[in-house]
Amino acid sequence: MKLVLITGASRGIGAEIARLFCEKGYLVAANYNKSVIDAEKLSSTSHNIKTFKADVSVSSDVNNMISEIKKYFGKNPDILINNAGISHSGLITDDDQYIYDEIFNTNMKSVFLCSNAVLPDMISQKKGKIINISSMWGQTGGSCEVLYSASKSAVIGFTKALAKEVGPSGINVNCIAPGIIKTDMLSCYTEEDLKVLSDETPLMRLGTPRDIAETALFLASECSDFITGQIIGVNGGFLI
Ligand code: NAP
Repeated sequence: MKLVLITGASRGIGAEIARLFCEKGYLVAANYNKSVIDAEKLSSTSHNIKTFKADVSVSSDVNNMISEIKKYFGKNPDILINNAGISHSGLITDDDQYIYDEIFNTNMKSVFLCSNAVLPDMISQKKGKIINISSMWGQTGGSCEVLYSASKSAVIGFTKALAKEVGPSGINVNCIAPGIIKTDMLSCYTEEDLKVLSDETPLMRLGTPRDIAETALFLASECSDFITGQIIGVNGGFLI
């Protein structure tokens, strides 16, 4: 059975990816940080899901988590899904270096740390898949989400460069850029805002965590073996 590590799997998109991969026969290492109860609920749904606590923006946490995963499952993850992230909105002139560090450490440094932790084994096995979750705002830039957008653009750049570097080692690196997806992350939007965003979407609805999970499943599968370095927009046509 293939082993997938999903960061930020306690809630929202990450939790749905964990559920879908488990349903499809994968072993799931589900990372969480603060949401202990949600993580317990997720792991109680199947013996094939094991949760691992780590702040993925911290190098020692990531290294400990990978050691624990290898000890528990007896192998390195076959697939890494870098999903953990935080959003932040406000005027750039109100942001400071602490907010910058928090956003970039969580959204970008974590992608670097987790990828670096699983890559040595993937390279020696000449096999592996890394899937990064960016954002539509990382492609276009979102007003009042400058730091968030910049961190998600960095994830896109990281994906493309890493795909070139590790492609010869048989590793695929791809990125999903979600549009507006119904999770806790949208709590800063009013119902009215969400209605406007939905009306502006050609497919006339907001996205669901399942929409992203299905795309991740495709990118993890053999059906996508010749796809690497790509940014797949899952946004209902909001950005074309
Ligand atoms: P969410 O519901 O707020 O969930 C965020 C997840 O990230 C939680 O499981 C949280 O875990 C985890 N997380 C945050 N910081 C972490 C850290 N330092 N270490 C480990 N885990 C951490 O958000 P979501 O909507 O599912 O977003 C998932 C990803 O999709 C993010 O990268 C986000 O930027 C991206 N995205 C979302 C949307 C959207 O509209 N929802 C759109 C574009 C892109 P704990 O609660 O356990 O700390």
